[in-house]
Amino acid sequence: MTKTESDNGFFDRFGGKYVAEIIRRPLDDLEKAFGEAMRDPAFLEELRTVQRDYIGRETPLYFAPTATKLLGGARIYVKLEGLANTGAHKINNAIGQCLLARRMGKTRVIAETGAGQHGLATAAACAKLGLECVVYMGEVDVRRQQPNVATMELYGAKVVPVKSGARTLKDAVNEAMRDWAANFKDTHYVLGSALGPAPFPDIVRTFQSVIGDEVKRQAAERGIDVGAVVACVGGGSNSIGIFSAFLDDADVRLVGAEAGGVGPNVGENAARMTGNASREGIVQGYKSRFLIDEDGQSLPTRSISAGLDYMGIGPQLAALGESGRVEFTSVRDDEALEAVKFFARNEGILFALESAHAGAAAMRIAKEIPADKALVINMSGRGDKDIFITSPVFRPARWREFLEAELRRLDEKKDVHDAD
Ligand SMILES: *Cc1c(COP(=O)(O)O)cnc(C)c1O
Repeated sequence: MTKTESDNGFFDRFGGKYVAEIIRRPLDDLEKAFGEAMRDPAFLEELRTVQRDYIGRETPLYFAPTATKLLGGARIYVKLEGLANTGAHKINNAIGQCLLARRMGKTRVIAETGAGQHGLATAAACAKLGLECVVYMGEVDVRRQQPNVATMELYGAKVVPVKSGARTLKDAVNEAMRDWAANFKDTHYVLGSALGPAPFPDIVRTFQSVIGDEVKRQAAERGIDVGAVVACVGGGSNSIGIFSAFLDDADVRLVGAEAGGVGPNVGENAARMTGNASREGIVQGYKSRFLIDEDGQSLPTRSISAGLDYMGIGPQLAALGESGRVEFTSVRDDEALEAVKFFARNEGILFALESAHAGAAAMRIAKEIPADKALVINMSGRGDKDIFITSPVFRPARWREFLEAELRRLDEKKDVHDAD
């Protein structure tokens, strides 16, 4: 039996709660409240209702006939988390934690975000539940992720640009922790992936495990024999969410795809499990594998998919990788782009660049799995959000023309307003 829950916050030797004294209190309160909520039938009923009516669960388990024929091996299925409201799996966790926050009597919610996907999901959940929302985001990310910033603001969230350090995700996490330490009386910190100090890895996995639980039920109902499950791995929330239901099924291969970026050297990827720059350490409150140097300083990372471009990985996945229960592989930027095209053209499904890493890994291993078995790909999100990245690659000239025309249009409008 592979244990799903942590032992007092630890998954083998990974995990833990390596935090300053001031953060212990809110973490302990949270752990207690979470345990009580998950034993309260009224809370679970409310969660199920919101999952069904607001998120749109269950999401389909789609049989991909053309991909199956072209790849020549396993029957290919795609779990369409991209059809969840807000376009990705992140809402599963955001809604769960916001319901928990409300139950704890908190009126204010904070979150960190890198690319903006988690901030967006949290902003939506707060709008739905009537909670005040503040999202910390590195100043560099604010500048390059304007579409998500704009959407968060539409949902009514306040986006705070973080100007310390490298002004990216790591610095946003530090800022959110500082805020939480000062304001935990009325504030809950919604952490966005299955990492950070305990109890966050357990909480996030629990709210994301709805993905794997559904796949298992859908497969049983339809007589589908699951042979492998593939998911992309940033911090690890969508992957542990779909894997957790299958941990005890020893004959089901579980494959995690991390960002291979543009190459194997330091600064060219975000490969924490398969890369050669990765080492064990304690960073931002938990022990895991990180892309850090011998002094524990973070190394630069790179990926075409912002959601996988992170130096750490959830402690449970680090443990599952070490025990061999989860296999890891890395997928390069160009392979992910190919997978986007493959599933768009052959199945009419637009993968997010993150999810396309899982798609590419599946394309690689489909032949290794018998034709009577299913290979399930977790499509963690849909790719509409990536049009500013994919279009400049696939059709650069026409995209440039479009952007220039938009700028001209903006200037013309400005003239009109100036004349007012
Ligand atoms: C954020 C994100 C990821 C990566 O995060 P995990 O916690 O590893 O799941 C993957 N896919 C999408 C669409 C995302 O938005």
